[in-house]
Amino acid sequence: MALIDEEHITNEDAFQRACASLVGGVNSPVRSFAAVGGVPFFVAGGHGSYLTDVEGRRYLDYIQSYGAIIHGHGNPVVLSALTEAARQGTTFGAPTLGEVELAEMIQQKVSGVDLVRLTSSGTEATMTALRLARGVTNRSKIVKFEGCYHGHSDALLAASGSGVASLGLPASVGVAPNAVADTIVVPYNELPPIDETVAAVIVEPVAANMGLVPAQSGFLQELRSLTEQSGALLIFDEVITGFRVAEGGASALYGVTPDLWCFGKIIGGGLPVGAVAGPHHLMNHLAPTGSVYQAGTLSGNPLATAAGSAALRLLNTASYRMLTGRAEQLAFGLTKVIEEADLAVQVQRVESLLGIFFADEPVTNYRQAVASVERGIYPYFFHAMLKRGIALAPGPYEVLFPGLAHSVDDVDKTIDVASAAAAEARER
Ligand code: PMP
Repeated sequence: MALIDEEHITNEDAFQRACASLVGGVNSPVRSFAAVGGVPFFVAGGHGSYLTDVEGRRYLDYIQSYGAIIHGHGNPVVLSALTEAARQGTTFGAPTLGEVELAEMIQQKVSGVDLVRLTSSGTEATMTALRLARGVTNRSKIVKFEGCYHGHSDALLAASGSGVASLGLPASVGVAPNAVADTIVVPYNELPPIDETVAAVIVEPVAANMGLVPAQSGFLQELRSLTEQSGALLIFDEVITGFRVAEGGASALYGVTPDLWCFGKIIGGGLPVGAVAGPHHLMNHLAPTGSVYQAGTLSGNPLATAAGSAALRLLNTASYRMLTGRAEQLAFGLTKVIEEADLAVQVQRVESLLGIFFADEPVTNYRQAVASVERGIYPYFFHAMLKRGIALAPGPYEVLFPGLAHSVDDVDKTIDVASAAAAEARER
């Protein structure tokens, strides 16, 4: 029996009910309002660029499932591929052509990818990429950059931005010292020393979990040559940037080819997915052809591959032109109205990904991102936007995901609302 009258449920009721069965009322800390205060809204449904909560309030949504959605909620083409697949069964534990089709699409769009291994999350993809790098190089150390998030596996949680940072945690307890003993954390946009013990350097080619921090000119190219010289593998974590910043992802945008790619989000069309990809000579080290073990009951799930293939099939050059156009309009407008409200702001953008820092100077690394967040303006701005019907992520280290469902009018409305919200945040 429902504990609460569903017809008159409020977000407060829903949250109370959730807290009785789910830790903190949520299944991922980034969904909680711990960083901004208050109670999360509970989503009843999503249509295009909008969400509706259980109280019937509508929000223009810039979270878009943290980038898993690029065509807007409930895109009819994606939905019909998904329902068609579901009619044939939901999971088999035997290969399907749907998996092949998704892998082929990734191959076609990303130059340098020969083979793909599908997983059920981005976390599994990065975990697998590290194991593969260690297996191939017979080395143990991993270099990661401060403020880059690569999922919640032990070795990669160190200084990882996003939800960990929003909650004010340096990292997670429960990670054994041994598990991170081989993880070297270095500042983003600085070149790390790489010796012959380093198996891999993993990087978000556009950092999108400490707000939006672009790779500075030459950074990725230099990383490529340093890793090449030292025999370490370069892993691009394109879980967010893949198929979003360009049809071929960040490697195409910057003209830098890593050894391995990690994908997720968009390639599942809104269903759980991840992928590791790379050239034959590396990928063939994975079981069953090689001796680096990795597996998954739901890996390459038929619903996820159907939705993901449909989502990727809909993306073309025109999509990216449109996405970038919207994001330019948004970044320009936000900068203007927030500055007019007398707040120092840096709206940082790479193609359609953007983030808002309340800061005097451009932010190039995690330390600067933290300093900007510590000004404490974001929670006020966030709530001032939310109460006017614009949903940003409830954490200051997240980015905005304008998508193909966001119209010019949506963006105009966002800028109007931001003008009032910035004035309110200024008066806090
Ligand atoms: N890498 C990056 C860059 C991410 O942004 C994320 C998730 N936000 C992950 C990895 C982990 O993906 P998942 O949440 O699917 O495990």
